[in-house]
Amino acid sequence: MGLPQAMEATQGTKRKRVDEKSPLQQKRLKLLEGRKRLPIWLKQKEIRHALRDHNVLVLSGETGSGKSTQVPQFLLDQPWCSGKIAITQPRRVAAISLARRVAEEMGTPLGSSSPSSKVGYSVRFDDNTSPSTRIKYLTEGMLLQEMLRDATLGQYSCVIVDEVHERSVNVDLLLGFLKQLETRRSSSLKVVVMSATADVDSLRRFFSEMPIVTQGAISTALPTGAAETNGDECRSGSEAAWTGFGDEEERETANSSGVVASISKRIASCHVEGRQYPVVIRYLDNHSDDIMETTLHRIFQIHCKEPMPGDLLVFMTGSDRILDLQKIVEEYAQNLTSDFPKLLVLPLFAALSQAAQQRPFQPAPPNTRKVILSTNIAETSVTVPGVRFVVDTGMAKVKQFRIRLGLDSLLVKQISKSSADQRKGRAGREAPGQCHRLYTEAAYRSMEEHDKPEILRCDLSAAVLTMKARGADDVLAFPFLTPPPRDAMEKALLNLLRLGALQETGQISALGRKVARLPLTPSLGRVIIEAARPEMNCLLEVIDIVACLSVESIWLNVDTEEVRERAQTARQQLAKRSGDHLTLLAAVQAYAAEHSDRRRWADDHLISHRAMQSVMDVRKQLTAQCKQAKLLLRDTEAASASDEGLQERVLRCFLRGFSGNVARLCPDGSYKTFIGNQTVAIHPSSVLRGRKLEAIMYNEFVYTSKAYGRNVSAVQLRWYEEIIG
Ligand code: ADP
Repeated sequence: MGLPQAMEATQGTKRKRVDEKSPLQQKRLKLLEGRKRLPIWLKQKEIRHALRDHNVLVLSGETGSGKSTQVPQFLLDQPWCSGKIAITQPRRVAAISLARRVAEEMGTPLGSSSPSSKVGYSVRFDDNTSPSTRIKYLTEGMLLQEMLRDATLGQYSCVIVDEVHERSVNVDLLLGFLKQLETRRSSSLKVVVMSATADVDSLRRFFSEMPIVTQGAISTALPTGAAETNGDECRSGSEAAWTGFGDEEERETANSSGVVASISKRIASCHVEGRQYPVVIRYLDNHSDDIMETTLHRIFQIHCKEPMPGDLLVFMTGSDRILDLQKIVEEYAQNLTSDFPKLLVLPLFAALSQAAQQRPFQPAPPNTRKVILSTNIAETSVTVPGVRFVVDTGMAKVKQFRIRLGLDSLLVKQISKSSADQRKGRAGREAPGQCHRLYTEAAYRSMEEHDKPEILRCDLSAAVLTMKARGADDVLAFPFLTPPPRDAMEKALLNLLRLGALQETGQISALGRKVARLPLTPSLGRVIIEAARPEMNCLLEVIDIVACLSVESIWLNVDTEEVRERAQTARQQLAKRSGDHLTLLAAVQAYAAEHSDRRRWADDHLISHRAMQSVMDVRKQLTAQCKQAKLLLRDTEAASASDEGLQERVLRCFLRGFSGNVARLCPDGSYKTFIGNQTVAIHPSSVLRGRKLEAIMYNEFVYTSKAYGRNVSAVQLRWYEEIIG
């Protein structure tokens, strides 16, 4: 056989071998080509060397450069990496979609579906991992939960904190804990901190500051002037650029009590240039008074007039607006002539069911353009393929702590310049694109540069409990990237004291530990613990209600007069006089008892079938968790929502967790809160709207045109007095 023939024969065998590979392997090989084109691919050697030589790597790079999918894969076979790799995400949708994608890229089954799976995810109410999982995508909250079982995170060789630029409270807590841990475990735990913005100086400084170790606990953090020089710089270029400080260059310092802290110069940083195609920006000439109308108009203008192919990504404020617009766009799209491609409208927000959350990531069918209506989830957290047009309404819903009320509320606010720029970037990921800003250029120029970290604007009760439950008792001395205001911390301590989660001494109580183990806010956790007390004995019912409160809303928006009338009749069958909590219970019980056609039942009652599916999911998981925590669940079937003794017990349990959210009726007919003496109205969505009751309790405080309490029930002042003692 001549050489060419021999080569052909070898190639033939090779081709055959590839063809014979399993579908998983074929997919892996197909995806490998795309992975090699990601900007981060050229940096893999440098990233590996950085972590071979250092404990902490601060990695910045534009969204879509490949950080979240590639970095764990680069590190998996490193000699120091015998344990698992955790990679945290701020949102469950990102954790799940990334795990799916990386499993495909590695040619391994996902999560618990196979004992040989290497990639899994763990999000609230859904742990999809197996004992063989090496790369675990998980929400920040889940990693914090794992720290309750093992504060040293012993099963991990590496923890990657992704999306640090979002600065969620949980990211800030994780960074503090990891800083403490990394110092204690010295070189055995590697930490990678990843951010979509190039502002890495504060992170480097944070990890360089010297913690003083006192008997296993870090009590304070000394700032050091030398911090800025305490790291290595990864210069762009192909040769390894990790020079400078090494572990041998340790310094020792002592605090006044003579305790020695050993400081290694151990931090490296690296920047990955993104691949960004040009994006044309269009502004409005004049401010729009009706943003829904303007958005609708712009979607069809792009679809019908722009010759460029590609999907649309529309940034909106929240699920209610998204679902409203989806309905209208779908109606209009039915009238499009066959000259235009079809439109496939897909919502994307955190409270969607998992299956629905995955749909935007799948390619559009032939001759169809996807229109993805998203909250700021798609800003940096997930990369939706195929997008070439971004429509930016310039607004987002943000959590804001109202210190006088001691409550978080959700406000619709103008985004920052850096958010607007991130949104624009989504249009130029795969090819040149367009960004339609539905605000004026002057409005853009007046935006704040960056968003404030969440820790500066939210209720800190959950954060403080998280710290206390993990041994960080002196919360004022916790190493925060940005220390929160002292009065917000004090408010949180008081709230936890009121819940009984802390003792008078400020130490966590046994009850506080139980609350901290539940994947709920301290208030809802407290409600669950109360319901499990033998004299209350209503845990099953309370779980049903808590499950409803953890999805955005089970009620569909009612927009026409005719539908409104129908809704009123349908909902009246479920409505309970005591308010929304027991109405929610009645809805869940009726839905669960419906065995023939749940979708139809939901439609008939103008209830979101999708939301109800999520409720059932959460209900199942929460029940399992309560069983695991040995909380008392009745063996018998759930009691009926109309049992009066039960109704009172359920409401008393909620009052135990939400005694801070009670308002009494005043002579002028308004409701005023006990804490802060603020006027609060019953939300129009409540079954109690317009009713005058002795006192009301609500779960949420929303501020739109005025202050509303949402999810409201009537309570007796006597119950309230008994609780506050
Ligand atoms: P970064 O973390 O830097 O934002 P990622 O690693 O998330 O980047 O994304 C890199 C690329 O991987 C994206 O540009 C996209 O092409 C692809 N990708 C990521 N997640 C998915 C997914 N769920 N489905 C399809 N492609 C994806």
